[in-house]
Amino acid sequence: MVNIDWSSLGFQYMDTRCHVRYVWRDGKWSDGEEVSEPYLNMHIAASCLHYGQEAFEGLKAFRCKDGKVRIFRPQANGERLVNSARRTCMAPVSVELFVEAVRRAVRANEDYVPPYGTGGSLYIRPLLIGTGPQLGVAPAREYTFIVMVMPVGAYYRGGLKPVRALVVEDYDRAAPRGMGDVKVGGNYAASLYAHEAAKRAGYPVELYLDPKTHTYIEEFATSNFLAITKDGTYVTPDSHSVLPSVTNNTLQQIAADLGMRVERRPVPFDELESFAEVAACGTAVVATPVYEITRGDKVITISDPETSGPVLQKLYDTVQGIQYGVLPDKHGWCVDI
Ligand SMILES: *Cc1c(COP(=O)(O)O)cnc(C)c1O
Repeated sequence: MVNIDWSSLGFQYMDTRCHVRYVWRDGKWSDGEEVSEPYLNMHIAASCLHYGQEAFEGLKAFRCKDGKVRIFRPQANGERLVNSARRTCMAPVSVELFVEAVRRAVRANEDYVPPYGTGGSLYIRPLLIGTGPQLGVAPAREYTFIVMVMPVGAYYRGGLKPVRALVVEDYDRAAPRGMGDVKVGGNYAASLYAHEAAKRAGYPVELYLDPKTHTYIEEFATSNFLAITKDGTYVTPDSHSVLPSVTNNTLQQIAADLGMRVERRPVPFDELESFAEVAACGTAVVATPVYEITRGDKVITISDPETSGPVLQKLYDTVQGIQYGVLPDKHGWCVDI
């Protein structure tokens, strides 16, 4: 057994038993291997280093109430990586290879999955990079696909904690027809500067507007935007430059299952003050309630800074219930390892 203090886990890198690694050469993937050294010996002209041929994913495995470990919606992440690989001209990872690689990495590190009841989970980070040397600008001819895993702690101990957000006016994270809808590291590099500035100003999350007109809400830097209207409708922006979040998709389905109306549509910034609840959603934390949003001199208060709204809490509890095998998994989201 591994010796980890599950109660003090945060969200940070830690060595585990191994990661799994596949290499694409001569038009096909290797059989993959389990590698214990957390280093990669790479050509200095690798295309990921120079031209940003890189895409990644993020998903989780949970130790369920019955003791079994299950992965949450790996096919959905696999489909997204297929799209990322296409858009960045990288070697195709099929959904089948993706799911098998993820299961293999989790199986090999099963004792790193936090016990049921600790609120922790195993974070899974698949990574696809161009590793072939490429000086002229063109897709590389060699790729490496890695799946690494890491135990992470409960983000919220004792209830959801609402935060305030800042609207980013001086920068955009994506262009109107750019790569905003593709999960690539470049989008993160593009948002770090504004993120650090927002953090210094006391805002843990930043909200981006549509890059063309800055009149519609897009998403937070690393998580989607969702709102609950005063009459209980789930609203989330529909935009080409928003990353299709698996968590958002899951929450929309759960909201519909609970009998709520779900709207995916352009969301004007001016509509913000009419919402009853707002949240940032993504795999790492499921949903972070946002109680206040600042844009320039204007501060828009949405909800009580002390507690999560009732609808968000219900959605959050339902997702977690399904992930930990406490509520029925009627959509077949949880995959055995
Ligand atoms: C990964 C990511 C999200 C969240 O997606 P999930 O699949 O829910 O984890 C949201 N926005 C951006 C920009 C992302 O990169």
